[in-house]
Amino acid sequence: MESKKSSSLSRRRVLKAAGAAAVGGGASALLTATGVAAQQGAPSVLTNTQAGRKYRAFVQSSAPLPGVVELTSRALTGRQVMYRAEAAQTCYSSVRQVLVPRQPQSTTQPAAPQRATAVGHGGVGVVVAVGPQVVSTRVGDRVIGILHSACGRCHNCLWGRSDQCLVRGGETTGPIADGPNGMMLYSSSSGMAELITVNEEMTVPVFTDVPSAELSLLTCVGGAGLGMATTNIPVQFGSDVVIFGAGPVGLSALQATKLKGAAKIIVVEPIRYRRELAQKLGATHVLDPNQYKRSPKVRPAGGFGRDSARFDDTLLDHIRDLVAQKTDRVWAGGGRVGPEHVIEAVGGDQVPPKETPGPDPTGITTLMQSWELCSRIGSAISCTIGQPEDAFVQIPGSQFGDSAKHWWVCTAGGTNDRRDFPRYIKLMETGQLNFKALVGKTYPLTQTKQAYQDCADRSVITTVVTPNT
Ligand SMILES: [Zn+2]
Ligand SMILES: [Zn+2]
Repeated sequence: MESKKSSSLSRRRVLKAAGAAAVGGGASALLTATGVAAQQGAPSVLTNTQAGRKYRAFVQSSAPLPGVVELTSRALTGRQVMYRAEAAQTCYSSVRQVLVPRQPQSTTQPAAPQRATAVGHGGVGVVVAVGPQVVSTRVGDRVIGILHSACGRCHNCLWGRSDQCLVRGGETTGPIADGPNGMMLYSSSSGMAELITVNEEMTVPVFTDVPSAELSLLTCVGGAGLGMATTNIPVQFGSDVVIFGAGPVGLSALQATKLKGAAKIIVVEPIRYRRELAQKLGATHVLDPNQYKRSPKVRPAGGFGRDSARFDDTLLDHIRDLVAQKTDRVWAGGGRVGPEHVIEAVGGDQVPPKETPGPDPTGITTLMQSWELCSRIGSAISCTIGQPEDAFVQIPGSQFGDSAKHWWVCTAGGTNDRRDFPRYIKLMETGQLNFKALVGKTYPLTQTKQAYQDCADRSVITTVVTPNT
């Protein structure tokens, strides 16, 4: 329920900062364009449908690289929400798109109208206008613009998997704005724009005073980490958990793992400052994967047993020692069985990092280690990206077919944004989730490329663009 306090706070923010509010499609509140946004040129022509508003966005068009362009908004349609973005995280999965030029398109084809989208995976802002059919969000609400739709009506949403929602927000609406040289901007999940227009299923209204930069980490990276530890295969109380990777996904997973009551939390991460932060956030052990060796195992004379490892891996051996029971007497509950949960939050390198790289830039080794490491009745989960498209994970067929191990793959950690964001935020408000520690550096819209560069370098935990500063 919307509290009077948070409602008045968010509406004040709109009046002060955005300087304009209107409800699309009908006669409604239309406020004078004053304040910061007006000085920056965001609202210029105001109508009830928001047609003609000028704003800037970091846009991917047919050009080799995305860049900041000036756009003019089209009229809002029925289920669209327009919000003024305050913060957007630079997801690592977009760094190639931003930093590596695309191959030029064929010159033999006639030039098509430029279909463009803003870059990015979600944002946080304040609603300035809604279409007449919007039911979940009002002008003045704070919203988190999400990476995937959460329509609540498609097959996958009805089966409780809104992380796999079949409605793609950008594909269900026409152009939302026009740019230079015939460019047409289509709706996307991006927060890298002064104004964002999306269908309402791409937003989650939130009623909180948590700073926008911290909230912006929830969509995609932070939600992915929290979800991997709490949604589809939740970490069990008193269990031992291994987390590969201490970027924003891994450090979010670490915090959720701690909240779920894990006993040992072992974080594997090549970058020193990330290991140190992991320790501050609750890791009981931190390990540098570059200190260990992995090589194919020589086939024993009697052949590989069904469960036997195919690699000599000193990292996995060390972790198994760390989580081993204090006795090897099986009928006394002992053994060297491995951790109950393994969370993989590494993925493949999109570009070479400046900070210390891990042992395998493809990310495939970590996927295999995650499978190999978890106990025979354990669970391994991953939601990472960036592995080469022609690379394969190898798992012995005998283990894959006749085993009690769970391998769980999900998008964004399986988080159901509309269900889970409010509870994640409550934990932030009560000091049990520390996302402040994960906000590395903020950048204005004009420095979006640098924000992605620093993200790619891994020189800070996260980088956040604040489009209207
Ligand atoms: Zn993302
Ligand atoms: Zn859906």
